[in-house]
Amino acid sequence: MGLFPQQFIDDLRLQANILQVVQEYVPLKRAGRTFKGLCPFHSEKTPSFHVDPEKGFFHCFGCNAGGDVFKFLELHEKVAFPDAVRMLAQKAGVSIPEETDGTSDDGRRDAQLRETLLKVHEVAAAHFREQLAAPSGARARQQLKDRGLTAQTIEQLGLGFAPGSYDGLKSTLLKQGFAQGLLIQSGLLVQRDNGEVVDRFRNRLMVPICRDTGSVIAFGGRQMDPDQGGPKYLNSPETPIYSKSRTLYGLSLSKPAIRKVGFAVLVEGYFDFAQVYQSQAAPAVASCGTALTLQQAQLLRRFTARVVLSYDPDAAGEGAAARSCDLLVAEGFEVNVVVLDRGEDPDTFIRKKGSERYRERLRGSRPYLEYLLDQAAAGLDFGHDDSRRQFLGRMLTVAARIPDAAARDQFADRIAHKARITEDVVRAEIRKAAVDRRTAVTTRELPATGQLKHAEKGLIWSLIHNSKEAVEALNELDVEDLESLAGREILELARTLHDGPVDLLPSALLQRLSTVNAQLVTSIAATSDPPAPPLACAHALKRLRWERERAAIQREIDRLQEQGAGQHGKEIDALWQKKKDLLHRIEQA
Ligand SMILES: [Zn+2]
Repeated sequence: MGLFPQQFIDDLRLQANILQVVQEYVPLKRAGRTFKGLCPFHSEKTPSFHVDPEKGFFHCFGCNAGGDVFKFLELHEKVAFPDAVRMLAQKAGVSIPEETDGTSDDGRRDAQLRETLLKVHEVAAAHFREQLAAPSGARARQQLKDRGLTAQTIEQLGLGFAPGSYDGLKSTLLKQGFAQGLLIQSGLLVQRDNGEVVDRFRNRLMVPICRDTGSVIAFGGRQMDPDQGGPKYLNSPETPIYSKSRTLYGLSLSKPAIRKVGFAVLVEGYFDFAQVYQSQAAPAVASCGTALTLQQAQLLRRFTARVVLSYDPDAAGEGAAARSCDLLVAEGFEVNVVVLDRGEDPDTFIRKKGSERYRERLRGSRPYLEYLLDQAAAGLDFGHDDSRRQFLGRMLTVAARIPDAAARDQFADRIAHKARITEDVVRAEIRKAAVDRRTAVTTRELPATGQLKHAEKGLIWSLIHNSKEAVEALNELDVEDLESLAGREILELARTLHDGPVDLLPSALLQRLSTVNAQLVTSIAATSDPPAPPLACAHALKRLRWERERAAIQREIDRLQEQGAGQHGKEIDALWQKKKDLLHRIEQA
């Protein structure tokens, strides 16, 4: 289930007119039944951006951007679906039926407050850097040196030191004229039970955490002494400018290199990051201890679609690492894993063995899905049905989350090969599981509409413009008719929605589809003429299936005949009969 009740989303969509929303950003002119204007997602001189207010979608014929009103806000405001819902609710003056997630909405709206909090963090970062350079920072400097970090790296990462006093930072900030209440809100000061307000970070190495634009928004503080009390790592709390789940440590430093080399290394902690960064082996980002969140994955997706995971090797394939990998796979990333030696993380590995060896390991990283197959297969005896079933079950849940159909089929074939199961069986199982998959909201490239059969386009067009007839036509089809079609996911989803009110079908469909498939649908729906009547399309798809089956039977006949017709006479006769039946059906159709 999503964050919001479906009923709420449906109501909100009805109340918030896509035309009004888009017009806040893009001037539109009427063009017959639809409206058009200059596309906000690519630069152009003649308008190819269309809005269909009646059907509730937009589409650009130039860059293929398309979707419903939520998708428009997601793309235009560069936010995830929940934030698009919140923004739309705010525009429509509708209250949201959910608890806020700790980041204050008031603060979010209050640009002034955020501006001030950023200034506070800027001053604090400078203060911590000064303390590190001061005589009292000698031990902290030594610790960083012992960790193998150079003065240059320390400066580039903006590392600092918070001395043991209770009011070092406090007095600096108060002197600058910041109000105490605001400083408590910034998370840099805390109010104790006795009412006293003191520095949060004491006797700690300070790591500034930045937004991808480079402004400091929070800090991580590492203990100087194991017995000083408090956690090993103490982080800033969530504030109006800092949300842990939406921040990737190190992205501001690595993003130019990520764009250049086309991938990012994902590590766990601040000092893993520091070490990889210093080694210049590859651009890195850190998730900071916990499993990657959807928002972090989406943030990263703006820069690359390829990730090399370099966590603690014992942890790879389980816990936080596995959850991160699964999420990345589901979001359409290409994921590799680096396996280091037992007990080593990137920090200790590079310190002991040097950056060249780490580079070697990066080059030798393996695709996560292959790694997973080996892990799951280890210790299983595929001679036993139970083992094969167990293996298949585990792999299916992973496979079902791969958003790209071609990549999914490829993985299915590997599973089949490994467990010695027929490929078709595995593919069919995966498809079944994939239908339930939650649709992802990341931006992906649009597959060519040319891959769609004319009849698929006809059905998809009708789903939006003539839902009632389209649903009737879909009901004529069986699951097998949709097999191996480029538009299979769209049509299968539409079949699952046919019980709902027919007039809500277009919007229900668009909202649930992945970005890529929503774009595909709007690109077809935006053409003015129906490609073909839905029922004729359904019949054409059925006929195509029979022809596929006939071809498969013919291949099997050829194969058996090659092996010797005498030996397989009965089988071949039975296949001929099947083929004749099919031919008859095809002719009748
Ligand atoms: Zn465009």
